[in-house]
Amino acid sequence: MKNLLEIRELYVNFRTLWGIAKVLNGVNFTIRKGEIFGLVGETGCGKSVTASTILRLLPPNSEVSGEVLFKGENLLEKSEEEMRKIRGREISIIFQDPMTSLNPLFKIRDQMLDIITLHNNLSKEEAEKHAKELLKSVGLPDPERILNSYPHELSGGMRQRVMIAMALSSNPSLLIADEPTTALDVTIQKQILELILELKDQYEFSVLFITHDLGVVAEICDRVGVMYAGNIVEIATTEELFETPLHPYTQGLLSVVPDPRYRKKLEPLKGSVPSLLNPPTGCRFHPRCNYASEICKQKKPILCEYSPNHFVACHLYGGNSDD
Ligand code: SF4
Ligand code: MG
Repeated sequence: MKNLLEIRELYVNFRTLWGIAKVLNGVNFTIRKGEIFGLVGETGCGKSVTASTILRLLPPNSEVSGEVLFKGENLLEKSEEEMRKIRGREISIIFQDPMTSLNPLFKIRDQMLDIITLHNNLSKEEAEKHAKELLKSVGLPDPERILNSYPHELSGGMRQRVMIAMALSSNPSLLIADEPTTALDVTIQKQILELILELKDQYEFSVLFITHDLGVVAEICDRVGVMYAGNIVEIATTEELFETPLHPYTQGLLSVVPDPRYRKKLEPLKGSVPSLLNPPTGCRFHPRCNYASEICKQKKPILCEYSPNHFVACHLYGGNSDD
């Protein structure tokens, strides 16, 4: 399978009043055509920053290095004008709370038609027809009513469906879904995940699925990257990650998954996420790791292929380090 997106050695720093926060610390992963790649980790580990970096939507106090290769071209070298054409057209994003992206003052019709006409050369009538088709394809059977509604008149699940319809209006190759179901109750969450799976096959896009919830990963992702404090510490197929988690952090995350199928006798996580203003030396997980040795405090382990398609960054699995 060909790679759609390749992130190579991505570093992001934020200059803050309190010093430099090293939020991404050499991130590497790829997303293949047609797959759902999950990025999982605790709040503040850099998942959303990774998404913002791909879309070049970082705040001005940031410094970026590395490569974000999308269809072989480095997005970090694109001009703002070129990026405007890629954002929303080639790469779309949906967020946890659709209310942050929907304008409460305008009916869904105005907002959808705005987006559709921005990305497609269509008359108003054609755009409206396209909007209705999209709303039907995301499981909203009465598109006329939805178009006439203000965002607050819809339920959370319906708003998320509208956001997905808008994100798909330009037929993107990559959909970034940043915690899209976190604010929804479990039944609606399941429906939205199923919808994304269906639409992915119908519209043939890849998904970068960001979540803190391994249960959600198990439902929807083909492969997973586990993030900890600005690093990807493990990448594997979903099945393999749940069956044979290698990294002590992944093992800790899995020990708290409520689903008994996945809960094994693993050490629970202790301690909390470190400050990125003054991150731990070497392996950033060492203060929380039961297996930490001297080398872990001194050298950062790099991501290596431990078995076919299963990557881990941990000194327990080899002596590789990059500093
Ligand atoms: Fe633990 Fe060392 Fe592996 Fe880091 S490198 S996860 S501290 S054993
Ligand atoms: Mg986030």
